[in-house]
Amino acid sequence: MDAHLSKICLGCWEQKRLPIPIRGIASAPFRAVGVRPSRMNPNTCTICEMMFARMMKARQITVEASVLFADLRGYTTLSQSHSSEAVSAILDAFYDEAAAAVWAYEGLVIKTMGDAVLALFNFPLARAEHVMQAVRAARDIQTTWKRRREVLNQTLREDCSGVGIGIGIDCGQLKFGEFGRAHQDLTAIGTVVNRAARAQAAAGSGEILVTEAVQARCGLDLDDDIGKEFALKGFEAPTRLWAA
Ligand SMILES: [Zn+2]
Repeated sequence: MDAHLSKICLGCWEQKRLPIPIRGIASAPFRAVGVRPSRMNPNTCTICEMMFARMMKARQITVEASVLFADLRGYTTLSQSHSSEAVSAILDAFYDEAAAAVWAYEGLVIKTMGDAVLALFNFPLARAEHVMQAVRAARDIQTTWKRRREVLNQTLREDCSGVGIGIGIDCGQLKFGEFGRAHQDLTAIGTVVNRAARAQAAAGSGEILVTEAVQARCGLDLDDDIGKEFALKGFEAPTRLWAA
């Protein structure tokens, strides 16, 4: 799982050609002054994180990106039928697997709300193939979750087979910055974000639904190529989604 972890900050390297060590012996003096891997993307550093946080305090920026929403299904019922230890173990496992998959494809884990994960691809590390990276991350999340759930079934001695993940992906322009006076949360907003969230809500447990933009951008070899129309909340016209 550590194979994708870089020894230097990829953000500092790609944007400023500065080799800032974040792992290994060379990183010790940097760690001593608080420069370490970012918790949003471990291949970038805390300087990068601070820079985009500061930049966005001044203004929100518009970025071209892919947005992935992943949500744990059956979680609400789970919290009624399972012990609180089991529930938090399941939630931890979900966050771990989702973040590992997102990071493996160079995405940014922006925010986790309750039982959902929101990830952004193409920022701060710009990647031409960001749409495909989001789709690959989603597929990895589904694959690793099946395995992880088997392990949880055994270690927790409670049946977790009803707990699955629904994922939605959209891509395009969105605003990224700090919103809300009270929370000052670093987050992403825009139609692309809303559509990805609604696609996620429409996805069944174990399913990945992608929008037309995603399907067009990565030329997915999908089973049914006409997709299926969904009436998504907040969108007047029916939205065509594809299972990826
Ligand atoms: Zn950096």
